[in-house]
Amino acid sequence: METCTPARDTAATFVYVSLDTYACNGCAGCAELCPEVFRMDETGDKAELLDGCVPLTPDLAEAIKMCAQQCIELEPC
Ligand code: SF4
Repeated sequence: METCTPARDTAATFVYVSLDTYACNGCAGCAELCPEVFRMDETGDKAELLDGCVPLTPDLAEAIKMCAQQCIELEPC
């Protein structure tokens, strides 16, 4: 499991993002809303993560909320 480097931004809450690629339907909504965390894989059929431990931004929260497959999860990191 990855750990994040502390104190990149002490005001931000950092979260570990995980993705259920089996459930992902490739709609690309997360990559469009939050390209600093998600991108589509080389086939364009599944989302993938750029970095597991990231700041919890409004864009990330929105991407999680709009994912129809509910395949994005967060844990503290
Ligand atoms: S929003 Fe959800 S279903 Fe759509 S590509 Fe992202 S992870 Fe997959």
